Amino acid sequence: MSFRREAHVPKGGPDGGDGGHGGDVIVEADASLSSLIEYRFKHHFKAERGTHGKGSKMHGARGEDRILRVPVGTQIREWSEEDKASGELIADLVHDGDRIIVASGGMGGRGNTHFVTSTRRAPAFAELGEPAEDVWIELEMKLLADAALVGMPSAGKSSLIAKMSAARPKIGDYPFTTLVPNLGVATSGDESFVIADVPGLIEGAHEGRGLGHEFLKHIERSAIIVHVVDLTGDYEQRDPLEDYRIIESELALYAKELAERPRIVVANKADVPGTEDAIACLAEAVSADSLKAAGGDEFAPRRIDPKLYVVSALTGEGISSLKAAIASKVRELREEARNSAEVRPEFDRTWEFKRDRQDRHFDIIQVEDGIFEVHGKQIERMVIQTDWENEEAISFLQHRMRRIGLDDALASAGAVDGDEITICNRTFTYEGSGAEDIYRELDI
Ligand code: GDP
Ligand code: MG
Repeated sequence: MSFRREAHVPKGGPDGGDGGHGGDVIVEADASLSSLIEYRFKHHFKAERGTHGKGSKMHGARGEDRILRVPVGTQIREWSEEDKASGELIADLVHDGDRIIVASGGMGGRGNTHFVTSTRRAPAFAELGEPAEDVWIELEMKLLADAALVGMPSAGKSSLIAKMSAARPKIGDYPFTTLVPNLGVATSGDESFVIADVPGLIEGAHEGRGLGHEFLKHIERSAIIVHVVDLTGDYEQRDPLEDYRIIESELALYAKELAERPRIVVANKADVPGTEDAIACLAEAVSADSLKAAGGDEFAPRRIDPKLYVVSALTGEGISSLKAAIASKVRELREEARNSAEVRPEFDRTWEFKRDRQDRHFDIIQVEDGIFEVHGKQIERMVIQTDWENEEAISFLQHRMRRIGLDDALASAGAVDGDEITICNRTFTYEGSGAEDIYRELDI
């Protein structure tokens, strides 16, 4: 609050500038990042506060935003620290540069110049700044690979990704070697694609057993599924054909779209002697499945390449034709996506609109006869922004409350003159219609 002071002007007009808004906390997708490791141990992030407004209509500076960079493919959810549970999806940052404000900075309080009316030439009050929001969020990174390798543990997925790309994942000869997804970039001619090697898919995965569930969450978004079958049936001495069927049915049970995801089937470990029969058997099953799919069989993988790719991650046999097949499928799907009529709407703001609506909402609770409590984000903010030392500021608050419909809502809830109304630890006396004149005078 400030008034102009000049030597020859006895009483200058109000000239208090506004306080600066606080900075926002923003989450932004950045293609150069590949993990959320930065947020593993550091959980608290704050934007800068705005600075105070001053006389001569000088506005305060806006506080600096705080930008939290996350990898492309990060999903942000509401998080309840109390219940240790995640809530609604806030945003799915799937493109480089996608960003969302997760906590808005408080608005700077408005200076007294804003409160001038025909009847109030010299408002001797200003708003206090709005308190900042604080929220808990949960970040989850989902892979955005073009191709995802699926298969039984030890089928040779890690070995294949190592052979196909420059990635050097850990390779071991026991199940569950791959605990963390590996990403590799493979090139074929002048085309490249991202391939992911993710924790082993095992029987019952769709029921959330073992690593399976985590794994399936990762492949939800890959354009192509590359199904790797171990020709030697090494893992628990399985039959390769049975392995193939189990994995396919797990995928279909987990989500119908996964059955429809374009599929390339790879027979690995062809270097091992005595695998000819298994190759013939599998090749037949794959080509039969592609025919069944064409014939509308609902259990067959929908868009399966009729050819079985026979390879060895050990010797490199068959690898370049496998890469060429994946690259050409990736190109085809990218073109399909580009040409599809479904243009991505501008970044989805549903959650923000919803939050605004929730903020405006308030609840009235009758605690006992003649005593009411009001709860609501926006209304509580108004109370917090009021300078209680200042009469005018208080009547301005009353005016705002009437404008958002609180008086009417209280009346319908049964409040009568003289009742006690508590908002955010402040108690007011309800004066219903009696105070009408004051409100009218303050109407700005
Ligand atoms: P993952 O669990 O599917 O990732 O399988 P890994 O890549 O860790 O491989 C499991 C085991 O199979 C390791 O001992 C590999 O050396 C072996 N292996 C992988 N590919 C081949 C292959 O083409 N031929 C042979 N003989 N062994 C392989
Ligand atoms: Mg592995």
